[in-house]
Order: sequence, then structure tokens, then C-alpha cells
Amino acid sequence: MTLYTVATPIGNLSDITFRAVEILKKVDLIVAEDTRHAGILMRKYNIQTYLESFHAHSGPAKLEKLIEMLRSGKDLALISDAGTPGISDPGFVLIRAAREEGTQVIPIPGPSAFLAALQASGLPTDKFLYLGFLPLKKGRQKLLAELAEEDRTVVFYESPHRILKTLSQIAEIMEDRYITVARELTKIYEEFLSGTAEEILDHFKEKKPKGEFVIILAPKNFKKQK
Ligand code: SAM
Repeated sequence: MTLYTVATPIGNLSDITFRAVEILKKVDLIVAEDTRHAGILMRKYNIQTYLESFHAHSGPAKLEKLIEMLRSGKDLALISDAGTPGISDPGFVLIRAAREEGTQVIPIPGPSAFLAALQASGLPTDKFLYLGFLPLKKGRQKLLAELAEEDRTVVFYESPHRILKTLSQIAEIMEDRYITVARELTKIYEEFLSGTAEEILDHFKEKKPKGEFVIILAPKNFKKQK
């Protein structure tokens, strides 16, 4: 009947709303990107609802099964590994299919890594461009060249394996651009590093980059106040 898209913590397990927990307890099924990962949250909040997986490799038959459950009057809650479902994760496919069916989709808002990074970055938030993950190869250089001219704040996700390469490319294309790298948000080793990409690369030469990252580029003409 209804698909609830429920935001869950991006690290700190306390970052979940009362409403999210209530919904997760009352629906017929929780659809999770990774059921083992979801188990941690469910144990913490004593949620005993049935779990079913839905991830990037789930085929059309799984999608059809979930849509059929919605058609038959069941309430489903979609959660991703972290943060807001559908934001740069496979949950989007189910949300789109549910909407196309005419199913009611109700958002239960909460954390998202890009917003947590942006809100504490000190960079302009009145207008910004969210890019998810940058393309791995094709179009990457061209996109970075375009971002060099961007007069909005730009936010995107990066993996620990590619962060050094991405910072090197930014250093090459946007030598003086002020950027912020937010690492391990809401977790024990949370840190915000700001400066040019070269300066942040120097930091990572001393300390190997580990964990999860959000990169934020200041707008082209951004000037620090001090
Ligand atoms: N749906 C999620 C959201 O709302 O933030 C994003 C899913 S995306 C597949 C995962 C990426 O989000 C990671 O590769 C990382 O770039 C970023 N991310 C997730 N949790 C994070 C955290 N605690 N600190 C920094 N970045 C994080």
C-alpha cells in the first residue's frame, strides 16, 4: 500500500528520528540494501520486522516481488546502508517503480552524508550542486574542467580508493580552489580538512585516507573572510 523511504544513521546510531523507528516497527517488511548491516540498527532499537534485501544486483524479479507486495496492500519501509534512501544508492529504482505504479511514497527524512558535510563546512549553502559520485573515467576530466568555472558550492561523494587520485586531479585543474573534505561524519574519527587540494594531499601523505568521504568545492570566486 505505502512505501516509506526511511533515513537511517550515517555512522552514529543515535541519529534516527522517533518517527523512523515507529515506522520501521509497524510496517510489514523492511527492504534493506544489506540485511546484516540493517540488523545492527534493528537490534539497537528492538525492531522485529521482517527484512528483505534490495541492492544494486537485485534483478527485475525482486523488484516485481516488492511492487506486488505493495499492490496487495502491504506497507514497506525502504532503508539504505546509510543515510537517505535513493540518494546515490540503489533504493532509487524501487522508489521510481513504486511511483510509476501510483503507490503512495512517504519520505521519513533524516541524515544524508552530503547535507551533514555541507551544513558544517562553512561554505556557501544558499545554492549548491550535488553530484553524487563523479564518473569513474568517461567525462571525468571534462566535468572537472566545468567545475573549475562553477559559481555554486559543489558537493560529491568519494571512496577511500579514489580520494587521492581525485584530489590530484582537482589540484591540477583547480590549483587555488578552496575545498573541504569531510571524513567519517558522525563517527569517532570525524574530521573536516580544508585548504587547497594540494594541502589536503599533503595531509594524506602523512596519514593514509581511510573511511568515507564527502568532497566540497567552494564556488569559483569564494574568498575566506580571514
Ligand atoms: N544514501 C546515502 C546518503 O544519504 O548519504 C549515500 C549513499 S552512497 C552509496 C555512500 C557514500 O556516501 C560513501 O561512499 C561516502 O562518500 C558517503 N558517506 C556515507 N556515510 C558517510 C560518512 N559517515 N561520512 C562521510 N561520507 C559518508
